[in-house]
Amino acid sequence: MKAKFSHVLMLLGALLAFVPILSVDYLLDAYARNKELSALQARVNEISAQINDSTASAVTALRQVIADSPSFCTPTFTDFAQRAIENSPNVKQILVENMDGVQYCDAFGRSVQHSPLSDSLPVPGLTETIAIAKFAEMAIPAIKVTQVLGGVRRISAFVPLLASSQEGLADTLPKGAMLDIALTSGLQVLAVGDGLDYDQLAGSNEYLAVQSFAGELPVKVRYLLPFADARAGYADLDVLFTTLACMFSACLLLIALRYARRSRVPSFDLERAIGRNEIKPYYQPVINLRTGGLVGCEVLCRWEKPNGQIVPPGVFIDYAEASGMAIPMTLSLMQQVRYDLSDLSQKMPGMKISINLFEGHFRDVGIVEDVQAIFGNSPISFDQLVFEITERRPLENSPAVNSVISGLHALGSRIAMDDAGTGHSNLAYIATLGVDVIKIDRIFVDMIKPGTTQVPVLDGLIAMAKDLGCEIVAEGVETEAQAIYLRSRGVIQAQGYIFAPALKVGAFKELALALQATPVGYSNVADIDSDAA
Ligand code: CA
Ligand code: CA
Repeated sequence: MKAKFSHVLMLLGALLAFVPILSVDYLLDAYARNKELSALQARVNEISAQINDSTASAVTALRQVIADSPSFCTPTFTDFAQRAIENSPNVKQILVENMDGVQYCDAFGRSVQHSPLSDSLPVPGLTETIAIAKFAEMAIPAIKVTQVLGGVRRISAFVPLLASSQEGLADTLPKGAMLDIALTSGLQVLAVGDGLDYDQLAGSNEYLAVQSFAGELPVKVRYLLPFADARAGYADLDVLFTTLACMFSACLLLIALRYARRSRVPSFDLERAIGRNEIKPYYQPVINLRTGGLVGCEVLCRWEKPNGQIVPPGVFIDYAEASGMAIPMTLSLMQQVRYDLSDLSQKMPGMKISINLFEGHFRDVGIVEDVQAIFGNSPISFDQLVFEITERRPLENSPAVNSVISGLHALGSRIAMDDAGTGHSNLAYIATLGVDVIKIDRIFVDMIKPGTTQVPVLDGLIAMAKDLGCEIVAEGVETEAQAIYLRSRGVIQAQGYIFAPALKVGAFKELALALQATPVGYSNVADIDSDAA
């Protein structure tokens, strides 16, 4: 279950790694859409404000003329009308008509050419009405603002719908865009750019659509722009963000792959690897700190893949244990150890071979039978064997555990407490299990720094081991200071990089034979030590 779950996580991780790339387009779309929409909105707001302003100036001019003139169509009236037009640059003409459109007079004493393009429409809050009209020679439509007087006459002012010309407006429009001015009834009164139907396209994602009302007037300004055209302006950002997202995705993918490499070792692979003897024993020498001679070795393992890749045990050992594969793996290792070390153990009968066992080995006496079957008729004698159990996962004091330990003891083999100090075991626990050797974990050895005169935790562990009558092996010895310190505390056996890493069988045998030939060994430690003493 656990393995399957991690596969799902890994798959999710790999998929998630592509999210940044996939989201660049989406995020930039959203960004471009927002930015362009607010620019377009500003544009239509400005135009609708112009319409509103010029209409307001027409209303003001008209009211001024009405207020100032005692009667219409007199020379005084004409003067006032002309002055109002001068004071209000947008207003082009003032006209007095009857209700049927018969002209009485105007500001300039000529007939006013105009024709309505819309009905007269009321404006909330005003007594005037407005209409869109074609006025004189003006290319752009005009707004005709009208006040009815006494129900029989009406006086109107004309202002152009926009200050700019239709061409000027079209020039500022991007290709494919449409800008129009329409009445709220829907009647289009001015349009520039492509002839698009605003009402039909405003809901489409392919267009950016904005509109704005000219104050209280029944007039609106509308703008349509194909989104693809607007988006094209963001190509540079596309490149930049896609590059960034690719980098980010690559990082995520790497993390997912690393996780995958750690967590995913399919069981059939390991099973097949064991069957093909790809899990190889490597031998880490254990050295006598007094003589520099070889005490023995710990059997560690590496997965040597057919492609030449060497996988350290950290990658697969937990999986092996969880999947029950640790038992056949140990069996395979012991068979290889027998093959590898038979001749050497005859030459060096005192050599100890330390083999790691797992919790699963202590559920029944199968391991005792396996040890008997493998080493029973071999040159390696049982008393050369040490079996390590880790303190990281303390064993229960159960009948099964006890019978495995007593079975191994009965053969003459010994039991070592591995990684001692890392668990929560106490003296009584170790004593009842019947441990013969205590292997002090590297974390305590690491506490010895150059110049250190005491390491209370380590010293305590050593004292405890001695009280129990156990042999002590220090693990992870990497510096001379550590070797000297341990020796000064009476620790005789040690393993670690200062002596040798785990070696292939050939290299291990060479080293063992060389040390046997010249048992002077670790002489400089001895010198320094005797100087100190
Ligand atoms: Ca070990
Ligand atoms: Ca260990």
